[in-house]
Amino acid sequence: MTGTSRIAFLGLGHMGGPMVSNLHRAGFDVRAFDLSDVALARVRERGVTTSTSPHEAVAGADIVISMLPASRHVESLYLGTAGVLVDVAPGALIIDCSTIAPAMAQRLAQAAAARDIAMIDAPVSGGTAGAEAGTLTFIVGGEPAALERARAVLQAMGKNIFHMGAAGAGQVAKLCNNMALGVIMAVTGEALALGVAHGLDPKVLSQMMAVSTSRSWATEVCNPWPGVLENAPASRGYTGGFGSDLMLKDLGLAVEAAMGTGATIPLGELARNLYAMNQHAGRGHLDFSSVVGLVATVTSSPNPLP
Ligand code: NAD
Repeated sequence: MTGTSRIAFLGLGHMGGPMVSNLHRAGFDVRAFDLSDVALARVRERGVTTSTSPHEAVAGADIVISMLPASRHVESLYLGTAGVLVDVAPGALIIDCSTIAPAMAQRLAQAAAARDIAMIDAPVSGGTAGAEAGTLTFIVGGEPAALERARAVLQAMGKNIFHMGAAGAGQVAKLCNNMALGVIMAVTGEALALGVAHGLDPKVLSQMMAVSTSRSWATEVCNPWPGVLENAPASRGYTGGFGSDLMLKDLGLAVEAAMGTGATIPLGELARNLYAMNQHAGRGHLDFSSVVGLVATVTSSPNPLP
């Protein structure tokens, strides 16, 4: 497929930037576009060819990949008044990697099918580190044949691919994962704050939890207490990583999805409120592990919460 396929990549932020760089490194012929000049310049520095408009990027592309913040961005990019769906060639394949509402993914898949364009929803897990390292997990909804057409491209950006079902199923599965993650991060922060309030060392407490029954990614990889893990966002002022406002968006989508089916998600709803409170506290732009700031004044490190 390298050498013959032309790929348009739209959305070059924290995730899209490193993902498109990995495609370029793997030998794919890529045209990239973002509304931000800074994002465009950053990928050009890595050798990626950029376009001056999304229309120019998708013209003649066999595969169109998008990595945008939320449903409204995906809707306006493809289906808005100046939407690019009409410029995508019939027979092409759209891979939307953004985390958006399952209903929006289904709507786009239907609009694409009406023009003989295949589409899969392929949101990712693995964060910015996984995007850089090319080790993302792709969580896919759509026709099996469309996934097979996408496989070589996805493998250049990630190492795990799960087919969850029909259009929108990838988004539902992604929301399940992030709802669990949002809850686990919040309670991990609470547990550490409780221990510290009783004079425990958060590092030793985390080491114990990491080999005990509460072990989790939130303790072992993205520990919310500053200074516990050198490479965690908490140890660099909660910068980088997965934004608290993106977690808030995903929990909102989970609540919406639950209301659509009558599923009950009491902890998910509580967590959505916690991340909304974190936003009101001025930490929405920081890594989501900063939610610990709701239950602790983190003063035990050189990088206290702002
Ligand atoms: P980001 O805000 O860093 O990047 C989004 C980019 O899209 C920005 O550069 C923005 O300018 C661009 N954009 C917006 N509208 C556009 C348009 N119409 N045309 C072209 N470009 C446009 O966001 P991100 O962190 O890269 O996240 C992208 C998606 O991936 C989100 O849905 C997020 O929930 C999901 N996600 C993020 C992470 C993470 O760790 N950051 C992890 C997993 C999934």
